[in-house]
Order: sequence, then structure tokens, then C-alpha cells
Amino acid sequence: MPRKKKGSLSINSDNIFPIIKKWLYSDHDIFIRELISNACDAVTKLRKLALIGEYEEPEDTRYRIDVIASPTDKTLTFIDNGIGMTAEEVHEYINQIAFSGASDFLEKYKDKATDDQIIGHFGLGFYSAFMVADKVTINTLSYQADAEPVFWECDGGTEYTMSTGDRDVHGTEITLYLNEDCYEFANEYRVKEVLEKYCSFMPEEIYFTNADAAKEEAEDVIDSEASEPEEAKEDKAADAKEEAAGNDETETDEDGNDEAGEEAEEPKEQPINDTHPLWTKHPNDCTEEEYKEFYRKVFLDFKEPLFWIHLNMDYPFNLKGILYFPKFNSEYDTLEGTIKLYNNQVFIADNIKEVIPEFLLLLKGVIDCPDLPLNVSRSALQNDGFVKKISDYITKKVADKLSGMFKTEREAYESYWEDLSPFIKFGCLKDSKFDEKMKDYILYRNLEGKYLTLSDYLEAGKDKYENTVFYTDDEKVQSQYINMFKEQGIDAVVLTHNIDTPFITHQEQKNEGVKFTRIDSDITNTFKEDIPEEELKDTTDKLTEIFKKALDNDKLTVKVEKLKNAAISSMITLPEETRRMQDMMKMYNMMGAMDSSMFGDGGQTLVLNANNNLVQYILNNPEGENTAMVCQQLYDLALLAHAPLEAEAMTKFIARSNEILSLMTK
Ligand code: ADP
Repeated sequence: MPRKKKGSLSINSDNIFPIIKKWLYSDHDIFIRELISNACDAVTKLRKLALIGEYEEPEDTRYRIDVIASPTDKTLTFIDNGIGMTAEEVHEYINQIAFSGASDFLEKYKDKATDDQIIGHFGLGFYSAFMVADKVTINTLSYQADAEPVFWECDGGTEYTMSTGDRDVHGTEITLYLNEDCYEFANEYRVKEVLEKYCSFMPEEIYFTNADAAKEEAEDVIDSEASEPEEAKEDKAADAKEEAAGNDETETDEDGNDEAGEEAEEPKEQPINDTHPLWTKHPNDCTEEEYKEFYRKVFLDFKEPLFWIHLNMDYPFNLKGILYFPKFNSEYDTLEGTIKLYNNQVFIADNIKEVIPEFLLLLKGVIDCPDLPLNVSRSALQNDGFVKKISDYITKKVADKLSGMFKTEREAYESYWEDLSPFIKFGCLKDSKFDEKMKDYILYRNLEGKYLTLSDYLEAGKDKYENTVFYTDDEKVQSQYINMFKEQGIDAVVLTHNIDTPFITHQEQKNEGVKFTRIDSDITNTFKEDIPEEELKDTTDKLTEIFKKALDNDKLTVKVEKLKNAAISSMITLPEETRRMQDMMKMYNMMGAMDSSMFGDGGQTLVLNANNNLVQYILNNPEGENTAMVCQQLYDLALLAHAPLEAEAMTKFIARSNEILSLMTK
């Protein structure tokens, strides 16, 4: 009879398991990560011992971790052929240290609000098994020469039992007898899903077996081998477990005879994980195709990434990873990336903004940083100087890559610009260090489709528009203004993204004296004849009166200019400041609350060209039969070139246009 030992777990709280279950209710699938990473550690430790000669490895040693789900028994088993534990070690690591670790942990965080959670609940370790299991057993054998196997059992109370176990291969087998609420973790697909989430890149091979399916398969084989004795059935069913224990009995022997019978051509068993993910390799050893393949696999994005940065740092901290710049194909694509954080190839969580600078979350990538202090709360992480260094390093690498491209691969940089621009601009807005590094590498597409820097643009136009950047945010709607600009040889840039609104304000703050002006904000001197304003005063008064009457709008502001281009009749201008203010209010939905008289007629000015013959006609025929109609039409045309018409105005405009056409055919 094995001697049996009973004991009480050294804990402070009466029963800590209900707290573990409750506290981690939200994502208790992490117990799988915790148990498998312990198993990986156990294997890695044994590898290291073998390497330094402390342990003599049998020649055909194949280290592996097995996860076996049994839907029938409602159990989930984790087996490794790693270092194992002696009775003393079980006592020390499981009964005492691990448990006091868990209780410390809970003591510290049980009152914390959910927004201050431990990153990925790291650090709960072995005891997280009790989140899903009523009973847990450990069957372990230490690698040490004359070790005795140990069996440990705990039913989730404060008592455990320890006795001699029956494991005959070094390593540890942990079985979870699942709680009724957690039977899902005996389901093949559920377990595989969790394995994929947390364990895809763990450093030791992990195999999954569905014990029920393995049993069925074995029975099928036996059915077709009628002569085989009954016991063989159980033997086959036990194969999965045997395999897991590191026994290679069923493998083909040297003579080519397969002891297992007919299944000689069975495909080689595949681990569920990739033990050498691309980021762990040296950048020089990775091919372009490998980077793309990894991207597709991890992010399920079948659009090719633009380019990537392979981070590979050993000192002063250890950090590896790959950051991909994705293609934002359409304006409807969400600008939302994913940065997956790993700790020694163990997945922690996506998009941890305490570690990854916010703007980098627009990228897609993986970062593995074994040095991160993960057993602290998010808020502690945020204020950690070391974490700040990591995040600064990543930012610097990204800025270096981009500025390097600008300098040495300008053509490629330009071709990526439309995709890169929202990301870079967001980065400049969010991170002053990034802004500082990138400020000279911001490009502006001009009216000819060329890419210029801010200083290129200002330098080219310094005689005509000192320190002013003209821009269009809608090339279609503002085409009339664009043509005017082109005619006069004045350049403008195209800024159409949402981010451009805050970005130009930012640029104005950073570049003293520089003003961004939308091309329909004002009529610059270049477009008009240089005549004193008084000379046009009479005409202005007259036209104002006629238009106010024709449009039935007392608040209308009219300005008369002599534009060089006589073909232009009317235009709408809206001062840059007023428009920005209105845009902002629209954004915050404050338009309703605003007194509409604040900006008169929305702050708009109707500009009439005294050189245009239609305007001349109105001036000379204030009482003409069709004058009111011409005024209305000119006003609507001006509005149309500025922004889409409101529904009612549009209806009227179409009706009037038809009427005008019918006049021509009378
Ligand atoms: P942690 O892994 O954070 O140290 P755990 O509670 O998960 O905390 O585990 C406590 C200790 O128990 C481990 O450090 C290790 O020494 C031992 N242990 C746990 N699982 C295994 C295993 N599968 N094989 C060998 N030792 C293990």
C-alpha cells in the first residue's frame, strides 16, 4: 500500500476557490495557458539540464506536451515529459508557494475594479485550474535518477492528499475534473480554440487528442480485425495516453514492420503550435514570403501588408517582434490594427495600450517581451519607467524605418503615402517624440498629384502666397476653385482624411506663421484686379439690394470683385476660421444649440464677379423680367461649387434650370 499523506493547504482565507472562480469569471479560459506554460517550462528546464550535462537524455527523446480532452469523462488532461516533481517539490511548489502566491495575488486585487485588471491575469499559475475544475490530480515523476512518482489530489476545498503515484516516465500529468458549468472545456473545438488563442507559438510542441474520438477509431480498427482478442481494444484506446507519456512503442521499427498493424501510411502527427515563430528568427534569415505568410496566418488579412519592421533587441532589454503596415484599401476600412503581446512566446493579450503607444495600435503585429512585468495591474504598468522605455523604443524604431524610407526609397514611400498618412499623422498628434522625428517627412499631394513636403510647397509659392497652404478637401465639389488656382499657377494640396482637420491645426501650432486655408475660404489677390475697394462700393450696394430681394434673404453678405477670369460669375467663400468652428460644432452635434445669427448666413459670402456678363446684366436690369431667376440661379451655382445643396434647394434648382432651358427654346 502506498503511504498516504494528508495536509491542509497553507492559506489565509477559508476557501479561496470560490473567489478564484468568481474573480476570473470573465475569461477563465486562461487556465489552459497557465497549465501549458508550466508544462513548457518543465520541458525547457529539462532540456537545459541535459545541455549542461546534469541530465542524460535517452537518445530518442522527443519532448512534447499533450492535451487530452474527454467529453465522456468530462476531464481535461495536460501531460508533459519535462522535469517532473519530487514529493518535496510538490509540497514546496504546489502546496505552499504556489498557493500563497495565489492568495497574495487575490488579496491584492480582489477589491480592484475591473478596469484595473492584471494583464491577462498573469501569475495565477497552477491554481487557475480550480476556476473550472472541482477536482484536480497531479501525477508526476521527477527526472532525478531514483525519484518516486507522486500522486496529488485536491477537491477544491482546503485539503489535499498526497501518495505514491504510478507514472513511469519523467514529467507531469495534471487532470482536471471539470465543474458542471465548465464542461465546455472537454469539447474538442472549444479547447482547440483556446489553444490557438494562447498557445500557437509556445516553444515546445503541443498535441491535442480527443480521447473519445481516439477510442472510437481504435474500435473501428478492432471491428475489422475480428480475430484480435478483446483486450486489444483497450490497448488501442490507451494509445493516445501512451504516446503522451513519451512511449514510442507503436512507431515503425527498423525492419519496416508497423506494430500497430494496417496503418503504416498514417500521416505524421502535427503539433498545434509553431515552436519557432518568425519573430524569434534573425531578420537576415527571414524571407519576404515568410513575412507575408506569417501575416496572413496571424491576422487573417489576405491583403498584402505594405512593409514591415522586424524588431530584434537584446540589450538593455529583450524585445522581439514584427510590426506590419497594413493597406487601408478604402475609406471604409476601419483604421484599427492589432498588436499581439507575448511573453516568451506565450500570448498575453491584444492591444495593451499601456505598453504599446496608442497610434501603433493602427498597425498589425506581434511583440514578444519576456522582461515585461506582467504580474502587476494595468495602471501600475502605465506608470512603469521600464515599460515607458519599451514603448519609446518601439516608437523610435517605427520612426527610423519611415524616415529611412523617405531618405533612401522616396519613390516607395510616396507610393505608400496614402496608406501611411493617417497612421503617421495620428502618431504626430499623439506622440511628441514621434512628431519631432517625423515632422520633415510628412508629404502633401499637390494638384498635379506630386508629393511635396511642407517646406517644398512653401518655398515654391513664397512669392505668391507667403506662408499660406491652400488645400482642398474635396476635389470634385471644389473643382471650380481648383481650376481657378490652376489658371493662376497657384498650387494647393489635397487633404481629404478626417485626421487632416486636427492635423492642420497641429501643423499651424508647430510651424509658426503658417496658415492652412481651404481654397474656397477667400479670394486671394492673385485672382482679382488690383483696384481700391471704394471703387466697387456703388456696384456692391446695388447688387446686394437686388440679390437680397431676389433670394428673399436679408442676411445675405455680398462682395463684388473684378476677377481676372471673366467666365466666373459667382462664388461662395467662407472664412477658414468660421468653417473650422462650424465643423467642430457639427462634430460635437452642437449646431442645434447654436444661435444661427452667430455667423449671419452661416458666415458665407456671395462673391460676384463684376467682369462677368451675367452679373453685368443683373446690374443693368434690376427690374428685368428674368433678373430674379438669374440671381437665384447664380447663387445656387455658387453654393453647388462649395458644398452639396440641401434637398429643398436642390428641388428648386432643378425646376428653375428646366424653366431657364425652356426660355431658351421659346
Ligand atoms: P509559476 O508557474 O508562476 O511559478 P505555478 O503556480 O503555476 O506558479 O507553479 C508553481 C511551481 O510548480 C512552478 O514554478 C514549478 O516549479 C512547479 N510546477 C508547476 N507545474 C509543473 C509541471 N508541469 N512540471 C514541473 N513543475 C511544475
